[in-house]
Amino acid sequence: KDANAPVLTVEGLTVEFGALKALDDVSFAVPAGTVMGLIGPNGAGKSTFVDAISGFLPRHGGRVVLDGVDLAGKTPTARARLGLRRTYQQDRVPPSLTVGAYVTFVARRRIDATELAETLEFFGCPPASARLSAIDVGTRRLIEVAANVMARPKLLILDEPAAGLSHEEHLALAARLRELPDRFGMSLVIIEHDLDLVRSVCPRLTVLNFGRVLASGPQVEVLENPDVIKAYMGE
Ligand code: ADP
Ligand code: MG
Repeated sequence: KDANAPVLTVEGLTVEFGALKALDDVSFAVPAGTVMGLIGPNGAGKSTFVDAISGFLPRHGGRVVLDGVDLAGKTPTARARLGLRRTYQQDRVPPSLTVGAYVTFVARRRIDATELAETLEFFGCPPASARLSAIDVGTRRLIEVAANVMARPKLLILDEPAAGLSHEEHLALAARLRELPDRFGMSLVIIEHDLDLVRSVCPRLTVLNFGRVLASGPQVEVLENPDVIKAYMGE
């Protein structure tokens, strides 16, 4: 297989909520083994994008292809099985479970105790026996990322992973995210409203604004694009 083949290709994706086009003809590609940033002001369509890609929302046009497989008509579960995983902007970690039980539930596979302990440690998470109810929201977000990494996806999409994190947690998360492609053989899309995390993690960025792609390319080029600066100032 071509090493630079995209793990995800999105062509002309359109999602409508009644009269509102939340996504309008969006095209986007993620080369295998890379970390892509998807940014844009509040309401730009970022969460709608991840919902549509992962199969939680019907799309009204366009094509989504994961590692050569067209995802049309596939359920979120089928997409997860094919190697597409996502996290949520809101905290959805159930407090009644232990860390280990939650990870096993999310990863949908038996995870060797050593692998579980090592991966939790890599992410700076509490041990498998800890109860989620005793863990703060910032750390629960890290556990959600760790659990999805242990699902061994081809592509993991993180929806605002830094939301609710302290400055220290934010820096620690950034350092780990940079390592994920090499360490776990996966690709990442990081969706962020806040630019600090993407600045330190994503070499390439795509900007959404009013449901359309405003700019796409190397990070510095995109962040210096006058249209992008204007879109962020206009918030
Ligand atoms: P972002 O994640 O970039 O902040 P969203 O994808 O959440 O933006 O929202 C994009 C647009 O679609 C916004 O105008 C929002 O109000 C609208 N929207 C999102 N979800 C729904 C929904 N379920 N029904 C109607 N409108 C929605
Ligand atoms: Mg959002």
